Amino acid sequence: MDFELSPGQKELQARARAMAEAHMAPRAAEIDRTEAYPWDHIERLRVGGFLGMTIPKIFGGQGLGYFDAVLVIEEMAKHCGPSARIVVETNMGAIGAIIKYGTTAQQKLAADLVLSGDKPAICITEPEAGSAATQMTTRADKRGDVYVLNGRKHWITGGGVSRLHLVFARVFDERGAEQGIGGFIVVRDPKANGPKGLTVGKREPAMGLRGIPEAELVFANLEIPADMLLRPRRGLSHGFGELMDAYNGQRVGAATVALGLAQGAYEKAVAYANKREQFGRPIAEFQGLQWMIADMSIGLEAARALIWKAACSAPPGGFPDAQIAARAKILAAETAIKVTNDALQIWGAAGYSRNNPMERYVRDARMFAIAGGTTQVLRTLVASSILGRKLPQTRDGYLRTGKRVEAPVAHHDQEETPAVPVAPQSGALIG
Ligand SMILES: Cc1cc2nc3c(=O)[nH]c(=O)nc-3n(C[C@H](O)[C@H](O)[C@H](O)COP(=O)(O)OP(=O)(O)OC[C@H]3O[C@@H](n4cnc5c(N)ncnc54)[C@H](O)[C@@H]3O)c2cc1C
Repeated sequence: MDFELSPGQKELQARARAMAEAHMAPRAAEIDRTEAYPWDHIERLRVGGFLGMTIPKIFGGQGLGYFDAVLVIEEMAKHCGPSARIVVETNMGAIGAIIKYGTTAQQKLAADLVLSGDKPAICITEPEAGSAATQMTTRADKRGDVYVLNGRKHWITGGGVSRLHLVFARVFDERGAEQGIGGFIVVRDPKANGPKGLTVGKREPAMGLRGIPEAELVFANLEIPADMLLRPRRGLSHGFGELMDAYNGQRVGAATVALGLAQGAYEKAVAYANKREQFGRPIAEFQGLQWMIADMSIGLEAARALIWKAACSAPPGGFPDAQIAARAKILAAETAIKVTNDALQIWGAAGYSRNNPMERYVRDARMFAIAGGTTQVLRTLVASSILGRKLPQTRDGYLRTGKRVEAPVAHHDQEETPAVPVAPQSGALIG
């Protein structure tokens, strides 16, 4: 095992660091205050070759791996969380799924959008379907050459600024029979406020990472060409699980944003501890802070090691291992919450001021224990693998409707779409 970066990776990391320090750092507070999407950073990232790095060369990308992307994401996040998230979502998540499972036309469409500066949105969560994502009710009904989409998604990162959307919905054939959950490629034209049938609803006033909107999307008889359905290899009945494999990449990216934020806060806290004097000496000389700093550094190193392992677990053209990605995201999210909080503590009252980046780091770090699979739900995934069986999340295997499902309700992380609910069977309990 070798933890040494190759010369090319060192160069990539150094380029990202230089851009983040020169351009992202000076604008981070303003982006947080104004909550305005950083179009200027998008353009810089595009010109710097950081958007769509993982897209294969045949579609105009660089064909780099998740590990390369992770190096860039950490450097960006040390100074500007929103920029780091843009790098995640232009290299992982929706674009990863489309490149892996899409037709050539779908792959080309998605690659062109990302490489020209679009941050894709992935649309799964609904007001009544959060962790229990497969309880989504958004539906797509086949009508000749189109699918007609109806439903509502919320907490969609990039809602209102993204063009490319991957929208998950229950798919029904012309006879009204449910086929499973599929992903639809929907391209929004923000200038024309189209397509007809897609409305951007209210924006959530988010706690952190405020430069990227989290918004509601409403689909009302939105017609999507049938060839924009992303077809999983094993068919729609396994569609959700297969398409969600792409989410393992997104999780590694999200974990890296958390890590980078924590690393940025940590470095500023160490510098301050050496500079700030109380009782006639630098506060770094107090053992209470020394141990805090040691623990922060250990947490960061452990999270980075697991993230790197997860990133390297992706085979060429594939996604990171689900287990390692889940573990990395749990550790990085919880480390980031603790480290940013401790960093603020080291700054004392100065850190509590909104003129200081510490409070922004604390707010920005909070989301990673929630979005993309909560730390509780991801722990269930980890436990399932340790115990060697699926752990059903519905009470006695029954949904509230009283209908029994044949497989446990899948979360963003689980592998299979549950079978269409069947009639309750007396005494037939799952798990
Ligand atoms: C900043 C941000 C960005 C997001 N971006 C997107 C996006 O781009 N696209 C998208 O589709 N979604 C997005 N989401 C939604 C996100 O994926 C969901 O918030 C997440 O899946 C959890 O769902 P929920 O918030 O409804 O919580 P709930 O599912 O209602 O959970 C509430 C609490 O119950 C716990 N819980 C629920 N089920 C279980 C269980 N079985 N075992 C133990 N504990 C459980 C949870 O851990 C949590 O603590 C985003 C969310 C945030 C905060």
